[in-house]
Amino acid sequence: ALEVRDLHKSYGQLEVLKGISLAAHDGDVISILGSSGSGKSTFLRCLNLLESPHQGEIYFSGEQLQLKADKTGALQAVSNQQINRLRTQVGFVFQSFNLWPHMSVLDNLIEAPRRVLKQSKAEAIETAEALLAKVGIADKRYSYPNELSGGQQQRAAIARTLAMQPKVILFDEPTSALDPEMVQEVLGVIRGLAEEGRTMLLVTHELNFARQVSNQIVFFHQGLIEEQGTPEQVFEQPQSERCRQFMSSHY
Ligand code: ATP
Ligand code: MG
Repeated sequence: ALEVRDLHKSYGQLEVLKGISLAAHDGDVISILGSSGSGKSTFLRCLNLLESPHQGEIYFSGEQLQLKADKTGALQAVSNQQINRLRTQVGFVFQSFNLWPHMSVLDNLIEAPRRVLKQSKAEAIETAEALLAKVGIADKRYSYPNELSGGQQQRAAIARTLAMQPKVILFDEPTSALDPEMVQEVLGVIRGLAEEGRTMLLVTHELNFARQVSNQIVFFHQGLIEEQGTPEQVFEQPQSERCRQFMSSHY
């Protein structure tokens, strides 16, 4: 569903990604672990070109993203249509929710489906209400984001992403901005999506959760994949010493 080959990204002299290759097939739930600064967020953001990589190939739904270097050497999409298609198919859930503050929850959910997917208002509302019910906040449809708890806001943000019918969902630490008592309600929603067979890449520090929901674990270290395997392999028999240390200090 989504694949990258040999992805590189630098900020000035700092090479943050040093050649990452990873494939997410349909139904894969891949958790990305690693210490702070190892490049996890940068990697996710490069996948739908929220950041521009400097080298590498990106494939989605069997299609290669056409990229061209700009003056600084950063790769930019050649076709606006294609990048819009990529961003429609690959949804992103941020740590900080990123709901539009001036819109009700319902309007947050129907805006992009109407504009991008050209859904009628009635159709978009019907889908949105079903998704809000699914994430357990149907009663908040007319509330504004600042009237919601952090956990409710993140569930609304997940519903908004789902409303675009993405083929792959990227999550960047979806629970790390939440108060502890709200973490589980959001993890519960993500667990439900995993059980539905959704294809997801998840950066998280919730190691227990990652172990339970993922079929693949990837451990980043200084811009490279240091270890990769099933949860059993990576949690119980890590090959790399750094991965072993990370697991023993966080788990
Ligand atoms: P964390 O677990 O703390 O979220 P991370 O693995 O997501 O860490 P990244 O945010 O990808 O790490 O950052 C990787 C490196 O790139 C860090 O050294 C960071 O300081 C640097 N970096 C990230 N964004 C920028 C930027 N916009 N400009 C310059 N350097 C950046
Ligand atoms: Mg990060």
